[in-house]
Amino acid sequence: MGGTSNGVMFLIVHATVGAMIGDNLEPPAVGFLAGLLSHFFLDAIPHGDELLERELARPGRIHWLAALAILDGLAAISLVVVLWLGGFLNNAAGAFGGAVGAILPDVFLGLSELSKKKLWPDFLRFHDWNHRIINIELSLYFGGLIQAAVLLIVLRLFGLTIF
Ligand SMILES: [Zn+2]
Repeated sequence: MGGTSNGVMFLIVHATVGAMIGDNLEPPAVGFLAGLLSHFFLDAIPHGDELLERELARPGRIHWLAALAILDGLAAISLVVVLWLGGFLNNAAGAFGGAVGAILPDVFLGLSELSKKKLWPDFLRFHDWNHRIINIELSLYFGGLIQAAVLLIVLRLFGLTIF
């Protein structure tokens, strides 16, 4: 996550979509790969993070970005565990594989940022390019609505109704 040029879609959205896909695939390794691919499809959807990024990537605020990423990651894992414990998963191994695959690119992104872009610079460039395929900058509010909508739709597909 983070940096001035790379985008963030909340990990909780990535993880839930990855879990949904992996839940429907066998074996778990295929779910993992499909989850990994889903990351890049989701990232290509404009999701209004550019502004948030610019705010948080300012010098002295990197600890906020790190804290947000950790909270987001914990929320993502918790949500998949809740789906599992609640009996919403048909194929728990596949769902966890998909969720891990879907989060992994941003974990590598975070490690690369921490290394001051020394690690995997080509991956960093690819992730950035993929994130800008559809180059529309949405407001934080509208982008947040899109992310929330994706999350709620996927949860509903799992059979979990919040609204
Ligand atoms: Zn990403």
